[in-house]
Amino acid sequence: MPRRRIIAGNWKMNKTPSEAVALCAELKDLVKNDAVDVVYCVPAIDIVAVVEAVKGTNVHVGAENFYIVDNGAFTGEISAPMLKDAGVEYVIIGHSERRDIFGENDILINQKVKKAFASGLTPILCCGESLALRKADTYKEWIERQITWDLDGVTADQVKKLVIAYEPIWAIGTGETATADQAEEVCGLIRALIAKLYDQATADEVRIQYGGSMNAGNAAELLSKPNIDGGLIGGASLKPDFGKIVNA
Ligand code: PEP
Repeated sequence: MPRRRIIAGNWKMNKTPSEAVALCAELKDLVKNDAVDVVYCVPAIDIVAVVEAVKGTNVHVGAENFYIVDNGAFTGEISAPMLKDAGVEYVIIGHSERRDIFGENDILINQKVKKAFASGLTPILCCGESLALRKADTYKEWIERQITWDLDGVTADQVKKLVIAYEPIWAIGTGETATADQAEEVCGLIRALIAKLYDQATADEVRIQYGGSMNAGNAAELLSKPNIDGGLIGGASLKPDFGKIVNA
C-alpha cells in the first residue's frame, strides 16, 4: 500500500491564541487536499483554540512537546493525557531545538516516544545532524545511533504508525535546504535501518518526512523522492505558502 503523504507545520513559539485562529482561517481553503494528512503542531496555549478552529476541516492538531508523567508536581509541563483530552493527535518529539536549547537527550526522547504511543498520540520523531557532523562525513552513523536509541523498546506495530522527520540542523531556519538527493539519501538510510531493526513490512509502512527550509519552491522536488513521505515545515507553515507545500 502506498504511504499517505503527511505535511506538518511546526509553528514553534509563534502566534498568540487569537493570531492562531486567524492563521487557521487564512489557511483553511489553501490546505484542502484529501490525499494528504495535514497537521498543525502549535504552542500549548494555542491548542484549545486551534482544535476548535479546524473542526470540520481536513486539518489535524499536534503539540510541540509534552512530559512523560500523567500529572503531578512538574511545574510548567503538560502531559500526554492533557493533550489527548484537548483533541491533539500528533506530537513532535526530539526536535533539535529541544535537544540543543533544552538539553533533551535520547533517553528522555525514547521515554517520550513510548509514552506518546501508550497515550494514543502519534509521535513525529525528529533526528538530524549538525553541520560539523555533515562536514566530518559522520552524519550517517549519527542518525543511525539517534534512531536506534530513540526506538529502543518500541514495537513494530508502533513503528508502523510512527512519523520520523529527518531534519539536518544546518538546514533548519537557515534558508539552506538539503538537496533532494541529500534528503533522499538519509531518508532511505532511515528506512533501511528500520528494516534491519524490525522487518521490511515495518520499513514499508513508517512515514519519513524531510524538514529544513522546505518551501513552496522546493517542496515538489523533495516530495518526489521515493523515501520522502512528507515534510515538517517551520517558517513556511506560518504563511499561505504552506498551502502550496500541501498541494505540491
Ligand atoms: C523545523 O523547525 O522543524 C523546520 C523545519 O524549520 P524551517 O522549515 O523553518 O527550517
